[in-house]
Amino acid sequence: MSVRVQPELRSQLIQFGIGDWNACYHCGTCTAQCPLSEEGFLFPRKKIRLMQMGLKDELEASVEPWLCYYCGDCSTSCPRDANPGELMMSLRRYLTSIYDWTGLSKKFYTSELWELGFIIVFAILVVLSFLVLLPSMGYHFTRELTAQGGVQLNAFAPIHVVETFDWCMAAVVASLLISNILRMYYKIIWKYGNMKVSLWVHIREFWLLIFNFAVQPKFNKCDDKRYWLSHWFLMSGYTIMFIVIVVYLPWFQTQKILPIWHPQRLLGYYATFGLLFGLFVAIIGRIQRKDVKFLFSHISDWLFLAMLTLTAITGILIHIFRINGMPLATYISYITHMAVLVPMILIEVPFSKWSHLAYRPFAVYFQQLKRYAVPRESGHP
Ligand code: SF4
Ligand code: SF4
Repeated sequence: MSVRVQPELRSQLIQFGIGDWNACYHCGTCTAQCPLSEEGFLFPRKKIRLMQMGLKDELEASVEPWLCYYCGDCSTSCPRDANPGELMMSLRRYLTSIYDWTGLSKKFYTSELWELGFIIVFAILVVLSFLVLLPSMGYHFTRELTAQGGVQLNAFAPIHVVETFDWCMAAVVASLLISNILRMYYKIIWKYGNMKVSLWVHIREFWLLIFNFAVQPKFNKCDDKRYWLSHWFLMSGYTIMFIVIVVYLPWFQTQKILPIWHPQRLLGYYATFGLLFGLFVAIIGRIQRKDVKFLFSHISDWLFLAMLTLTAITGILIHIFRINGMPLATYISYITHMAVLVPMILIEVPFSKWSHLAYRPFAVYFQQLKRYAVPRESGHP
C-alpha cells in the first residue's frame, strides 16, 4: 500500500474538537498508563504520531480510537497537557464522519447550525403531523379530548399509524448505519491492509461483537468502575426502549392501565431508571468538570444529553398523566415526546453520538479479524 502524507489532516481534525497534539513530545507516559497498551498497542501515542505526520489512510484504518473508553488516565499523566484522551475523542468524531458517505455527520459535528437546524425542522414536522396530518386522516386531537373514558391514547395516536412510521424510520436509520459500518470494514480490513479474511473466521468470531455490545468489557478496564456502570445502564435502558418502541409498540402502548408488577411496566421502569442514572452521572460530571474526561464538552455532547433528558422526562410525564386520567396533558406530552425522540433517533443514531455504540463492538470484531488475516497476494484462504 502506498503511504500518502496529507499535511491538511491536522486542520481537518481540529474541527472535531480540541487539537493541541503538537504539544506532545512522545515521552510515552500515556502509553505506559493506558490500560489498552497491555494488549500490544502503542496507544495512544502512536495515533498522535499519525496525526502529526498527516498519515490519513493509516489513521482511518485504525480500530484503536474505538477501543478507548476515555478513562482519562493518559491525560492526567501527560507532562505536556496535550490531553491525549480528548484527542482520541476527537478522532472518534472524525472517524464517524469518514465512515458516513452522506457527509451529514461532518456537517453536524462541525456546525451547530446544521445540527440545531435539522433538529428543529424534524421537530416541526412531527408536530405538524399530529396537528395537520392525523386530523386529515380522521384522527382529531380535540375529538379525543371530549371522548368518554379518560385518556384514549390509541385513538389519539393510532397504533397502526405510529407503528408504520416507526418501522420506516428504523429502516432508514438501519440502512444508513449498516452502509457506514460496511465503509468502516472496507477501510480497516480491505483497503488499508490489503488483507484477506476467510468467511469461516468472520462467522466464528462474530460472538465477540455481541459480547462487546452487551457487556462493554473494554470500558471495564478503566480503574474507575462507576463510569462503566453508568454507561452500561444508559446503554441498556436506551436499547430496551428502542426495541420496545419500534418492535413491540402494540404491546407497549396499551389503552388499559396495567398493574404495577406487569412485565410491560417493569421493563419501562427499568429502562427509565437506566436512562436517568446514566444521564445524571454524565450531566453532573460535565457541569462539575472535576474529572479530566469531562473537562472539555463538544456541542454534540450537550445536544445529545439535552435531547435524551427531554425524551426521558416527556416519557415519564406521558405515563404519569395517563395513569391519572389527564387526556390533554397526556396528548401534549406525547407530541412533545415524539418531537424530541424522532430527530434524536434520525440524527444521533446514524450520524452522531449513538453511532459510537455500534462502531465500538464492530471495531473489536474487526480487530480480531485482522489477527487472522493473510495478505491478499498470498492466495491463501
Ligand atoms: S504523555 Fe503527553 S507528551 Fe507524552 S507521549 Fe503521551 S501525549 Fe505525548
Ligand atoms: S483515555 Fe484511557 S483508554 Fe483512552 S487512550 Fe487514554 S488511557 Fe487509554
